Amino acid sequence: MTIPKNITSDSILQAIAFIDKNGVPERRQSVDYDLIFKQKRYPPKFVISKANFFANGFDLESSEFSGGEETNNFLLNLGFEIESHNLIESYSWTILNNQVAIKKLDKSAFYHNGTGIPVDIRSFFNIDELTKGESKSSILIFNGKRYQGVFRSKRDSAPNARTQLHWHSDFASVLQSELPKWYDLFRNDSAEIDNVPELRFSRTEKDNEYLISILDFENLANDIENEQFENLEFSPQKEGKIQYYNGKRYERNLNNRKMAIETHGLRCAVCGFDFFQVYGEKGKGFIEVHHIKPLSTFQNEDVVNPKTDLLPVCSNCHRMIHRNPQQILSIDELRQLVITNRNPIPDKEHRE
Ligand SMILES: [Zn+2]
Ligand SMILES: [Zn+2]
Repeated sequence: MTIPKNITSDSILQAIAFIDKNGVPERRQSVDYDLIFKQKRYPPKFVISKANFFANGFDLESSEFSGGEETNNFLLNLGFEIESHNLIESYSWTILNNQVAIKKLDKSAFYHNGTGIPVDIRSFFNIDELTKGESKSSILIFNGKRYQGVFRSKRDSAPNARTQLHWHSDFASVLQSELPKWYDLFRNDSAEIDNVPELRFSRTEKDNEYLISILDFENLANDIENEQFENLEFSPQKEGKIQYYNGKRYERNLNNRKMAIETHGLRCAVCGFDFFQVYGEKGKGFIEVHHIKPLSTFQNEDVVNPKTDLLPVCSNCHRMIHRNPQQILSIDELRQLVITNRNPIPDKEHRE
């Protein structure tokens, strides 16, 4: 049996409310993943069992369906967020969640047209099954253009054959022209370089196609100073005054911001606007970051979870969200406005 299709996000919400009230039985605690909802964590499999109760009148036995991919994908498809207990980090790679992996750029990426894929990272690319000498083609989509890549398992004699992702010289040129300063820096085998730019791989519906963004965090500090809304939430009368940052908070804001961009990318979460696409060089790497909960409602800033509480938004949308400080719009509310006003519902006679 698989998870019944008539379980809706409403049934999931009812299950969450049930758990809030009654807790989770010891043997149903989660081992590997959590469903994240309003900053709280829930065991995905137990949530499904309970959701089935609200949809179909009985708890779904945990032996009737599997955790991991089946459960996670079901919840992801309904728009919920799943987080692994541990970020999988291996060498220069980090898997942030089912959808996103981050690669810290290094000399090999700039000068050898590719990067190694450590064993722990292979599952993200669905290349666990690749045997020695085999390869699988792949498409890297950057800025709307498609670039050929290929996963290759080397014909090594080692028991664990090395796997690599190679790209053609056209994508190598992209990296070189996007990041000239770093290209030069990596020319020499400089030992430890801090704050290196990252490649963000985001899965698409197609098994072997990935959306790529280049994350260069060099201007993060400037951006945070120019973006005022979130601080205005602290005290509405800041206008005209110099803002002093407490060093620790500033540092934390920077890190949260970086993590939010890694997780959610550089496109506006409301309207899809991409500064680089429109403004070219000038807009590269720029996006504002919105706190889903107004900061003033946090008793303690430490509870900000950049993955769930922060979202990238363009300056227009950000302004609209905060236009009336008494009634800050949710991302969904604003998105709905954008959709409605961009594509007005057609007159009756034009409908099918
Ligand atoms: Zn926007
Ligand atoms: Zn905001």
